[in-house]
Amino acid sequence: MMTDLTVSENMVASVHYKGTLPDSGDVFDSSEGREPLTFLVGHKQMIPGFEEEIMGAKVGENREFTLTSERAYGERDDEAVLEIPRAQFAQLEQEASLEVGMQLVAQMPHGPSPFTITALSDEAVTADFNHTLAGQSLTFSVEIVELREASEDEMSHGHVHGPDGHHHD
Ligand code: ZN
Repeated sequence: MMTDLTVSENMVASVHYKGTLPDSGDVFDSSEGREPLTFLVGHKQMIPGFEEEIMGAKVGENREFTLTSERAYGERDDEAVLEIPRAQFAQLEQEASLEVGMQLVAQMPHGPSPFTITALSDEAVTADFNHTLAGQSLTFSVEIVELREASEDEMSHGHVHGPDGHHHD
């Protein structure tokens, strides 16, 4: 096996990572106790700064970096906060009670869109469709666990096909 591979475009990278909020140190995501995260480099599968900061890294290398929101999940968009008539939630409310902070998924014309309930009244649900990490700087600690060259199929599809690059079903 080649050992001089580095993170670069069209490589399949497997990484362990921990994401923390730089101000509080709170962990918002981590691969600890899970399989490493595997992705095809250079195909917009990751937030932009994440890939940029690990470019050139070798297997076994650790990198720690902080991304401003422009290089992570972007700025918050006030227009992505919508008031939805509460009546539209009537069916759901037969099974679960709505609460501020609850995360739900709306079926939109362009596909499923997650949102967070930020306010509730008898008439309306305020739904924030911004990513929960929008507007935030994020610190990542990343360890490169494995690297391999992507297969032709993976490069043309823009995603990873499992450990050996074979086509998925
Ligand atoms: Zn595919």
